Amino acid sequence: MKKVQGNDSFHRINYLYQISKHIVKINPTLSSYYGNLMVNVAKKNVLKMHPDIKRQICKKCRCILLFGETAKMKIKTKNKQKIVEWTCNTCSTKKSLPASKDKDPLWLERDEAVVEVIN
Ligand SMILES: [Zn+2]
Repeated sequence: MKKVQGNDSFHRINYLYQISKHIVKINPTLSSYYGNLMVNVAKKNVLKMHPDIKRQICKKCRCILLFGETAKMKIKTKNKQKIVEWTCNTCSTKKSLPASKDKDPLWLERDEAVVEVIN
């Protein structure tokens, strides 16, 4: 089997993400703790978290943003571009993400980003 750089860390990030999301309704502080661990594991091993995961974490307290539970969501128009604005219920930090369909997809979401699939 081919070795993947940082494979163990990706497994760890995945696991932490799942428990963080699972615990957020019961204990947002614990969710922040796991979110913090995820970011630190990625930083220490110089890995990038997947954008889908990164978008769900509050950039300040690193709690999982769950619509109607731990965060509020609004759709706004800024410079004729639609953006989705998330507000964290724990620390009130706002996070905006582009929502326009005509916007270029992230590099990671394009087909050429996948070089090889390893099972
Ligand atoms: Zn927050």
